[in-house]
This record gives sequence, C-alpha cells and structure tokens, in this order.
Amino acid sequence: LQDEIIKSEKIRIVSDLAASVAHEIRNPLTSVRGFIQLLGDGGLTEERRVFYQQISLAELDRAQLIISEYLSLAKPDLEKIESIDMNVETDYVSKVLQTYANFNNIELEVALDQNPIVIIGDKSKLHQALVNLGKNAVEAMPDGGKLQFKVSRDQDLCLLNITDTGTGMTKEQLNRLGTPYYSTKEKGTGLGTMVSFGIIKKMNGTIDIKSEPGTGTEYTISFPMSGQFTNEA
Ligand code: ADP
Ligand code: MG
Repeated sequence: LQDEIIKSEKIRIVSDLAASVAHEIRNPLTSVRGFIQLLGDGGLTEERRVFYQQISLAELDRAQLIISEYLSLAKPDLEKIESIDMNVETDYVSKVLQTYANFNNIELEVALDQNPIVIIGDKSKLHQALVNLGKNAVEAMPDGGKLQFKVSRDQDLCLLNITDTGTGMTKEQLNRLGTPYYSTKEKGTGLGTMVSFGIIKKMNGTIDIKSEPGTGTEYTISFPMSGQFTNEA
C-alpha cells in the first residue's frame, strides 16, 4: 500500500513537471538577461566583462541542469560530490541574486566568515537550493527591504543564515512550507522550497526557520563541516 501511495504521489508530481520546469528555469534566465544587459553597458573592465560572461554561462548550464534534474525527480541523488567552501558559494549565490534584488529595491548584505568553511556536497545543487530561498526572500519584500546572507562556524557546523525583512509567515503557513504545491503567489508553483529542502537534507543539512508575520523570516541552515582544512596543516 505504501508503494502505491508513493507511486501515485510521484505520478502527481511528474504530471506537473512542465509547470515546475518553466518556473525553475525562469530564475537562471532572468539572471542571464540581467548580465547580458550589463554586458551592453559601455566602459566595462575586461575583468568585469569576463565575470559577467562566465556567470551567464554558468547560469545557462544551471538551467540545463534543472531541466534534467526535474526530469529525474524520481532519483534526486547528488551527482557531483566535492569539497565546497561555503563562503565562496554564498558569495556566488548573492551575485546571482543581485540584479533581482536591485530590481526589487532590496539591499543585499553578505557577511562571510574570515576562514574557509568547507562542507561536502553538490555545488550546483547547493546553488539551486540557495537561489530558491533567496528568491523567495526577495519576493516576500514587495515594498523593498533587506536580505542578508551570513556564513559562520559553530564548532563542527557550518551555519548559513538567510534573513529577510519581508511579510513573514504564520505558524500555519510555516507548517505548509516545503510541501508540494503550497504557494501564495499568483504565478507560484509551490515547488521551490520543497526542492531546496530536499537538496539541503541530501547534503546532511538541517533547517531551522523563525518567522514573524509583518517582521520577516530567518533561515538557519547548518551543514556538518568536512574536517579537511587545507589551511590548517
Ligand atoms: P513559490 O515561490 O512558487 O510560491 P515556494 O515553495 O518557493 O513556492 O514557496 C512556497 C510559499 O512559501 C510561498 O508562496 C510563500 O507564501 C511562502 N514563503 C517562502 N519563503 C518565504 C519568505 N522568505 N517569507 C515569507 N513567505 C515565504
Ligand atoms: Mg519560490
């Protein structure tokens, strides 16, 4: 019976694939559009130009990856496992979100740790998870606000805080967060958070959420550190 339930749930999810793929590839496409616009500005340094180009290519790769990921929703395993410096990836994700934040009058603040904080996982899936959460934070601040990413270390744990000054959620809304198709948005699919939570859990991460209606939301995501410190020998 359990198998039957799982099977019908899978069919239900797969039947909505077209909508979710469209939704998820909109994120990288929006970023690439922004970067191509920036590339059109005169007076860019060569370094900037190369950076915008690289990040655009990386985002297009991500769009491609998302499509294949959704098509293999039935086997959502991590593919490329490697050492990841949370500072570097958080910085990357914040840059991906920068144009979206600017567009919505949101101040983006990034506080990184002084030392590398290395975890083990799938880099591009981590990007996907964090961009989803960051995008939700931006969308929760229709009148502008502040989005903060903070990386820190607590003993053997890598902590990432994502804080917004947005609408916040009631207890009831929090309970539904991450369940398939829960969305309060006109064009939402209610799959972004589910995908993000799935990726974080696959990377042995835990998620704690504090939210206050009218005040904002704070995610505390923690990952076990890998224990390999190239700078401590
Ligand atoms: P979608 O963004 O397509 O609606 P998600 O799964 O990403 O789907 O999010 C589900 C719902 O959770 C959103 O519609 C929104 O109501 C709520 N939500 C998610 N993140 C936040 C946040 N940072 N602040 C307030 N509400 C949020
Ligand atoms: Mg979302």
